[in-house]
Amino acid sequence: HATKKTMADHLRKYESLFTLTPQRMRMIVDAFKDTLEAGLEKNGNTVPMIPTYVFGWPTGNETGEYLAVDLGGTNLRVCLVTLQGSGRFEITQTKYRLSEDQKQEDGQKLFDFCAECLKTFIDQHVGEEPGMINLKPGDKLPLGFTFSYPCSQNKIDHGELIRWTKGFGNPNTEGHDVAEMFRKSLQKYDVPADFISLTCDTTGTLIASHYVNPKTKIGCIFGTGCNAAYMEKVADIPKIKSLGIEGAAEIAINCEYGAFDSFEHEHLPRTKYDQIVDETSNKPGEQAYEKLISGRYLGEIMRLVICELIDEGVLFLGQETYKLEKSYAFDTAFLSLMESDPTDELLMIIGIFTHFFAVETTLAERQFFRALAKLIGRRAARLSACGIAAIVSKMGYLDEGCSVGADGSLYNKYPGFADRIHEGLIDVFGDKGRNIVTYHAEDGSGVGSAIIAAMTKQRK
Ligand code: ADP
Repeated sequence: HATKKTMADHLRKYESLFTLTPQRMRMIVDAFKDTLEAGLEKNGNTVPMIPTYVFGWPTGNETGEYLAVDLGGTNLRVCLVTLQGSGRFEITQTKYRLSEDQKQEDGQKLFDFCAECLKTFIDQHVGEEPGMINLKPGDKLPLGFTFSYPCSQNKIDHGELIRWTKGFGNPNTEGHDVAEMFRKSLQKYDVPADFISLTCDTTGTLIASHYVNPKTKIGCIFGTGCNAAYMEKVADIPKIKSLGIEGAAEIAINCEYGAFDSFEHEHLPRTKYDQIVDETSNKPGEQAYEKLISGRYLGEIMRLVICELIDEGVLFLGQETYKLEKSYAFDTAFLSLMESDPTDELLMIIGIFTHFFAVETTLAERQFFRALAKLIGRRAARLSACGIAAIVSKMGYLDEGCSVGADGSLYNKYPGFADRIHEGLIDVFGDKGRNIVTYHAEDGSGVGSAIIAAMTKQRK
């Protein structure tokens, strides 16, 4: 009869499922590049390639005090940004965690909450002392709103929500102008803020990174979701030819490339766990690329593999496992913690499983979990490299090289995520891949929103 499989035997199966060869990556990059180009041709493609109405790069000398509200996915952030010119800035901010209920209630209520938080923040920061906002009665502070869901814009202070992503589902919002909705809430709470610009975290990161480091050509987010933005020549965007904005040479494009391979599912290597994540999500079929990469999903992919092994009687036999059987019970931060456990006994992993899931683990199991986290995290980073590579290849940045400003918890906190992206870029491009360097864009979405508000005011 068959001998019992060891954890190492099981691991081999997952290794072959989650490993991406350089050749496969290059095929993905080619298809990705075609998709980006198709998105610039006409509307209605899987990857929307949204013109942001941010015309060209900042000079680095934008100055002044700006408010920024950032509705990101996991948190709402309210910031006061002081642009000091010469690529320097200061930022003060408060974070509010969004509840799952707030992500599903009526859309106007969500914007009311944003306005209320902003009002409280301003009240706390207005005053005569240094470092405080000096606001006279009747004055308003310019406000940049970072709203990181795909919107279609025809000017900078307007944006119609195309569809919710990242688990949001607030009714009465898709198809509506979210800038108008937020303005309404600002009025309702009498907030002394002048709504100037609507942008997304990715465009914000692109602009803020370039403000600080002018070698930056691409901005990326690896957080709850994933996305990228870059600067495109207006003449190379067939779908906006009719809009008559030829006067501007360049416009930032918010790719919304988390949607790559949605519905068609032709190009990305999806495992059965990825398919379950997709089918049980609130938007099946959509955001196919994002579902393999971003923080919202990696923990869930890991959990599904663990549940499969529980069902097969390989793990936790005779133990209560209901805590692990709950969807999204396994946070992506656990993968980070497992990979960074410095102890031979893998004490951190013991802690995670006993504390959060009330199950006992053997050392062999813990080694397996760590290896599994590594497979899932590494695949996410290598797929992330494919998206960056597609933009680099489309724009011809490879020979000259460029910097890529990146932000989001996955990029900032997952050990080795950036290194794995860099390895991936070398696998795609060979040695020249070294010319493309990602770096952490500090406070990109808030500061970027402030800079975009400043650029918008200058144009007026
Ligand atoms: P957002 O994208 O919502 O603006 P973040 O960039 O903080 O916010 O991303 C939040 C996502 O990052 C969540 O899905 C969370 O699971 C994941 N995350 C949080 N901490 C870590 C960590 N230490 N390592 C990896 N992922 C993390």
